[in-house]
Amino acid sequence: MGNDQAFAELGLPNDASESEIKAAWRRLASRWHPDRNASAQAVARMQRINQAFEAIQRARQGGDGAAEPAAAPEPPPPAEPARPAHPPIHRKLKLTLEEAAAGCIKALRGKFTPTCSHCEGLGHRVLGSRCRRCRGSGTFVRPSAWFGWPGQPEACEDCAATGIAREHCKPCEGRGTLAEQDYEVQVRIPPGVREGDLLHVAARRAPADLEVQVGVAPHPLFTLQDDGSVHCKLPVDGFAWMANRAVTVPTLDGVQTLALQRDRQRYELPGMGFPLRHRGPRGPQLVEIEPVFPEKSSTDQDILLDQLIASHASADPRLAEWQRTLRARARKRSRG
Ligand SMILES: [Zn+2]
Ligand SMILES: [Zn+2]
Repeated sequence: MGNDQAFAELGLPNDASESEIKAAWRRLASRWHPDRNASAQAVARMQRINQAFEAIQRARQGGDGAAEPAAAPEPPPPAEPARPAHPPIHRKLKLTLEEAAAGCIKALRGKFTPTCSHCEGLGHRVLGSRCRRCRGSGTFVRPSAWFGWPGQPEACEDCAATGIAREHCKPCEGRGTLAEQDYEVQVRIPPGVREGDLLHVAARRAPADLEVQVGVAPHPLFTLQDDGSVHCKLPVDGFAWMANRAVTVPTLDGVQTLALQRDRQRYELPGMGFPLRHRGPRGPQLVEIEPVFPEKSSTDQDILLDQLIASHASADPRLAEWQRTLRARARKRSRG
């Protein structure tokens, strides 16, 4: 590469200073280094940048190419963190409706393969200086068996054809990952999570952040509506219903006493449903009762029912009045 061409490659005028040359190299290397640039031309471009830098150094030293040129300077650290320490661990978590309503703490255990922090998962570390084997060109020519007959240039394995020296990462033995380890994380579930909700759990004791997808199991008694109301249908003793007695009703919090009214089959328990949003106020629980009577009453029950009817018929003025009306009509007809 000629001197003019070399300066052009680095985007510099021919009278650029030493510091300008190094700054230009750093800028271009940070853009084109194959570890940071996945495009197809990155390797070739990085080689040209290195060759240009070395050609200028050679010319400045008045060398003829035989002198060892200055090593390319260290590439700059990337402007932003190259990658998060570890990608988040994705987990699914099945909750009961009660757990989802009230919130809970769940232990999540699993296995985790950490990314090697020494090489950020690359399996090697980039040293920044020129690769010795290929002298920074990214390719080298294996000596031919035929004296004086050059072999085919091959991509340099030591530097993955980048021309920049790299060293094998010893802690991970070049794999980029470290030995698998167990983890256990206590996940705090806020009240009011719904099926499909994603919870981000910051890594404090975990090896990486967790992305937890919540599932809520169907409940045997309750169905949850979008408005936060929880519906349930339950049988009650028909006689207890007739007698306005109290019955025990299941709720998300346990059980509650409900005073039945014999003219009602639907009841609302305010604040006993599901949170409308995370940590928000709770909707109502809607209870629909189904009064259950014996299909065929027993003799004892019939006696008791007859007593009940007799005592009521004479005591209730509305029924006594009706009986009088009926008797008056009967008298008219017999006279008629
Ligand atoms: Zn490593
Ligand atoms: Zn090399």
